[in-house]
Formats: sequence, structure tokens, C-alpha cells
Amino acid sequence: MHLLWIILVLLIGGMFIICAASASFSSSKIPRWKRIATFAGSGLLVIGGCGFFGSALSAVGGLNWLPDSFEWPVGYAQGVVTTSDNYNIVPHTPSGRIQVYDPHWNFVTGWHVGAGGEVFKLDVAEDDNIHVITGRTDLHYVFEKDGTLISKDTCEPAAYDLFPDNGKSIVVATAPWLWPFSNPIISWAVGAIGAGLLFLGSKQDIKIGIVFHLIIQVVFVFAGFIFGGILAAIVMEFIRPLPSILSIPLGIVALLSLAYGGVRGGEYVARLISVRCPQCRSSSFAEGHRPIRYRCKTCGHVELTRCRASWGKD
Ligand SMILES: [Zn+2]
Repeated sequence: MHLLWIILVLLIGGMFIICAASASFSSSKIPRWKRIATFAGSGLLVIGGCGFFGSALSAVGGLNWLPDSFEWPVGYAQGVVTTSDNYNIVPHTPSGRIQVYDPHWNFVTGWHVGAGGEVFKLDVAEDDNIHVITGRTDLHYVFEKDGTLISKDTCEPAAYDLFPDNGKSIVVATAPWLWPFSNPIISWAVGAIGAGLLFLGSKQDIKIGIVFHLIIQVVFVFAGFIFGGILAAIVMEFIRPLPSILSIPLGIVALLSLAYGGVRGGEYVARLISVRCPQCRSSSFAEGHRPIRYRCKTCGHVELTRCRASWGKD
């Protein structure tokens, strides 16, 4: 039963990830932005697939060989309980794991609970042992804080609902690039963005209108700004230990330059996408900022828009 599930998840997940990865090998004859969209789409689909099927594989017990020192990226956790010495016991349902963090949220250890991929609840007893009740199979586990199994038995079907809901909801510090592995919904969202990009890259001859492209530019610029801000936050984590006479100016420089870089990067990517020329219907590309213009590659027609932006040369 156990082994069958592992094989099933490996087969389906493996097929999905191989298909997603092979989509990145696209012809070099297609336009550059389509190749970029295809490559990025394939990458996001692989990440989403690894997150979703990786969690599923862990939940059915296929990753029990992971060492105690392996920390699954938890992200947002519900039902977190605390021991008398303020250690945090974190349940992670998607991977079927329990992870222990010290009072300063440093990772201590983690292990897999045989919950068969379903929900489970935690509570800490007077003696600081961790009690686990699983949702459907009505199993009752007792673990020590280091993950040693003390007992495992079945309990009455109502036990899960009667079990106290003492846990808190907490965001466990998780690197931005690991969030897709923390929650199947995020895995799916990343995969869906990837699928959308693959679709855009595979369309033979879509030509979008100028208004639609202006909206895309705004979205990409905003996304670039957010991305730059996240990068700046990561940089600040690294420079935080420096004396504040260094860390404050460095942080400000990092924030400004990464936010600006993100804005320009987002705009650069958006401007790889061609637009239908109003004169000859072939490919036009955006340029400039005051105002934003569209220059046709074929007939040379320049279409002015009423949109202006305050960055860049002209
Ligand atoms: Zn034209």
C-alpha cells in the first residue's frame, strides 16, 4: 500500500517534471521573447511540479530517508504548539512532517509522521511529549521532542475533532525561492504562471494591440519593482551584522538600485514582446518614455502614445 503510493507519485510526478523540462528545448528560429517565455515557463512548471509532487512524495513516506537535519521549507504554518522550554513544534501537513525550532526559531530537527498524506493535529503534554492525532485513520502517536517515537495506537473516530486546537498560526522564516515548496497552492500558482508563459511562447502568431501591451508593461514594471524589493530585503539580511554606519547607507543604496533595476528589468522583458503595427500589421516594439512610442520593424512607422514614464533617457 505504502510502496504503491510512492511508486504512483514517482511515476506521475516524474512524467510531469520530465515533460515540463523538455518543453524548454524550443527551436532557435522563433523570436527571442518567445524563447525566453518558453524557457521561463518550463522552469516555473518544473519548480511547481517539484513543489507539489515533492510534498506528495514526502506525505506518503517516500522521503523518509531524509536526514533529521533536513529542514522542509514550511512558510505559513497552522497549529504550531510550544513546549514548556519554548521550543516550537511545527506541523507541515503537505509533507506530513513535524519540525522542531528552538525559542529563537533556529531549526533543530524534523521527521515524517505516518499520517498517510492527511491532516493531523499536535499538542504538547505536561511531560513535553508531542501527541499527534491523524484526521481519517484515527492514529495517536506520541513522540519525544527529538522525534523518538514513544507509542502509536488507534483511537476512537471522534478523537480528532475532540483534540484541542491549541496551535497558533505562524510564518516560519523561509527564503523567497523556497515558498513554492511550502504549500501546494503556491506550487500550483507558480506552475500556472509557467503554463501561461509556455502557452504564450507556443502561439505561432499572436500580435497584441498597443493598449494591451501598455498594460503588460505596467504589470511587468510593478512585478520588477516587487522583485527588486525582495532582492534588497535579502541583501539587507546579509549586511545587517555590519556596523550601522555601513549597513544603513549600504541598505539604502541596495534598496534604491535594486528597485530601480527591477523597474527597468521588468520594462526590458515586457518590451521583448512585439505589438501589431497599426499601419502594416507586422511587428512593432516599444521604445522611449516621453512619450512611450512603438516603432515598426518592417515599415518604420512610429506610433506615439499618451503614456509617459519618468525614468530612462527620453
Ligand atoms: Zn509597420
